[in-house]
Amino acid sequence: ATILGIESSCDETSAAICIDGKILSNIIANQTVHEKFGGVVPELASRAHQQNIIPTVHTAILEAKIHKNDIDAIAFTRGPGLLGSLLVGTSFAKAFALAKNIPLIEVNHMQAHILAHFIEDPKPAFPFLCLTVSGGHTQIVLVKDYFEMQLIGQTIDDAAGEAFDKSAKVLNLPYPGGPLIDKFAKLGNPDAYNFPEPQIKGFDFSFSGLKTSILYFIQQKISEQSDFLENENNLQDVCASIQKRIVSILLKKLTLAAKELKINNIAIAGGVSANSGLRKDLICLAEKENWNVFIPKFEYCTDNGAMIAIAGYHKYLKQDFASQEIAPIARWAVNHSQ
Ligand code: ATP
Ligand code: MG
Ligand code: FE
Repeated sequence: ATILGIESSCDETSAAICIDGKILSNIIANQTVHEKFGGVVPELASRAHQQNIIPTVHTAILEAKIHKNDIDAIAFTRGPGLLGSLLVGTSFAKAFALAKNIPLIEVNHMQAHILAHFIEDPKPAFPFLCLTVSGGHTQIVLVKDYFEMQLIGQTIDDAAGEAFDKSAKVLNLPYPGGPLIDKFAKLGNPDAYNFPEPQIKGFDFSFSGLKTSILYFIQQKISEQSDFLENENNLQDVCASIQKRIVSILLKKLTLAAKELKINNIAIAGGVSANSGLRKDLICLAEKENWNVFIPKFEYCTDNGAMIAIAGYHKYLKQDFASQEIAPIARWAVNHSQ
């Protein structure tokens, strides 16, 4: 079966073609309008999706060397995400399905981040534990089957991606700051500064205290030395220290959950799983703990249509289709019943 996958939940407009579980194209239009605002501006995001959706789908079809009449079903992100952004992808998918008389498939964006592991080998065996770390979520999920997921722990305040992006904002870096912190961290000393570790019970996370302490730390440094951040070495050391702490918070809870649940198939997913510090430290930890680890390819970490298409393919196999009355939802749990 040939599936067109559409992603429009936040600030990436993406379309992918998947044939029998193989990805033939995955086109991503990034929005640059948000850079100077320090975060995604919802109204601007919806407008950019509206402009990008047709060219993105068109390119995905061209690159896959198929014809639009070859598409057997269309999968789209129903949520969670920004409602105005989700409406663009949902409306496009419904119109396309209606025009071509093909089935419509709703996909949960957080499930899709995890199901990105089924795009290529090696694919994890069920059950596995997935640390999903993205711009809006930080979750430990027990994945029992493609669409059978249990939430084990989550953040009680900011997401890991938010912790990166908000720290970057304090450092006067543009949005999204996660990749930039990663870049500077590679050249810095992770032990230069010791940022606090939150004391949260169980498998939950918290990042707001860390964010505040970074803000106070930078304000203090700048009051002592106004050009503190202009010095490259300082910036690199601060970035390396921030990244080290965020990664240690994530891996500590993941280790705790893996031990408690006695699971050694461990995966990471979501935009922050592109972080080089997290990937490196996870590989070290896996050796120590005897885990089979699954780390997505870079292009399948941040938002992409391929993960929606592959999730759609697995729903297509079950003939799990949506009706034309479907509407997007801004909040939608990863463990919702199907
Ligand atoms: P959600 O999936 O929770 O709805 P989202 O779709 O906006 O949120 P993603 O696209 O999965 O999130 O991930 C974007 C986030 O990933 C941003 O916060 C970005 O800073 C972060 N990110 C991307 N690359 C890196 C990196 N190399 N290091 C750290 N963070 C990164
Ligand atoms: Mg994004
Ligand atoms: Fe996402």
